[in-house]
Amino acid sequence: MRLPSPRIEIDLAKLEDNTRCLVTQLAHRGIEVTGVTKAVLGLPAAAEAMLAGGVTRLGDSRLDNLTRLREAGIEAPTMLIRSPTPAEAEQAVAVASISLVSEPSVMLALAAAAGRAGMVHEVILMVELGDLREGVLAADLLPLARKAATLPALRLVGIGTNLACRNGVDPGEAQMAELAELAGMIRTELDLPVPLISGGNSANLTWALRADTTEHASSGITDLRLGEAILLGTDPVHGVPIDGLHTDVFTLVASVIESLEKPSMPWGERGFDSFGGVPTVADRGLIVQTIMSLGRQDVELEGLTPPPGITVLGASSDHLVLETPTRLEPGTELRFRLGYGGLLRAMTSPYVAVVQVSEKLFEAAEVPPLAGQGPLRQ
Ligand SMILES: *Cc1c(COP(=O)(O)O)cnc(C)c1O
Repeated sequence: MRLPSPRIEIDLAKLEDNTRCLVTQLAHRGIEVTGVTKAVLGLPAAAEAMLAGGVTRLGDSRLDNLTRLREAGIEAPTMLIRSPTPAEAEQAVAVASISLVSEPSVMLALAAAAGRAGMVHEVILMVELGDLREGVLAADLLPLARKAATLPALRLVGIGTNLACRNGVDPGEAQMAELAELAGMIRTELDLPVPLISGGNSANLTWALRADTTEHASSGITDLRLGEAILLGTDPVHGVPIDGLHTDVFTLVASVIESLEKPSMPWGERGFDSFGGVPTVADRGLIVQTIMSLGRQDVELEGLTPPPGITVLGASSDHLVLETPTRLEPGTELRFRLGYGGLLRAMTSPYVAVVQVSEKLFEAAEVPPLAGQGPLRQ
């Protein structure tokens, strides 16, 4: 069978392994995992792999993705991890079990929609702890919680925070202790159980997986919402692989369309390239320049790792330009690792097919199709 190209290959067995590894380690610290599927656009097969690996629920920032999960017949609890707009309240209560919220009017809309549907919708109130994305300031949390507690058809089940995503603020002991303390305050003041203390995302793992486990068993944090770490096997704060996780769940495969010996130095008057940049180029004489049928519309260069011996020189919308040791026959497939941004963009590109592979097929295809190929002569 000829596989489509370009494509993303997903190894679901490795995805499940990664999930189980994190779920097991965090369970020792009293933390459940919400498996976040937004980078794979709520791909049902990826969600199933996360569930098989032990996540408590699934999370996604987009209602369309949660809808996709529900339409695939997945009945696990779901968390809408980006606040809906008031207009989206109806769809939110239909496809999400829990919503993360920070605005009274959104809570009102959710309560009304849940009431109309004859359901109870659960909410987690988001608290701003310094990264300056979503959430109310700590001083405004109790009034918001009071409001939530009075709304029929709404159940206040927890509080949460999100760090690192916007300003790179590193989630650590101080913020987690503050969040746990705020939950304690709500429990006391409102006499509510508030069981879900959702401490953050993959950037929280450095804190959560620290060696001194006993301290964290009582940290008060009961949930982390994990996407990147499960999917890529890396710690986003330090960009390094996490012990025991596969970093090759995803492989981007594309095909050669041109591979010619050319000077490395452009000639002629130079202005901006197609994205407003002026690339600096060193003259390295003649090189083999190889073009893949892939471009910025499909992938981000940051974090794009070509096979050994090959370097990425640049890209325009539809042409990824590489330097290869030898000329490659058009149609030759090359395999790339992706960073988070690249994964997100490739999954979102309508031009990139998504293919699920078994571990075996994946390993058989791992060897880049370069070996033994001498330079082609025209
Ligand atoms: C994207 C997101 C996550 C998951 O982040 P990862 O870095 O992929 O683990 C968790 N919570 C919120 C609110 C998010 O927007």
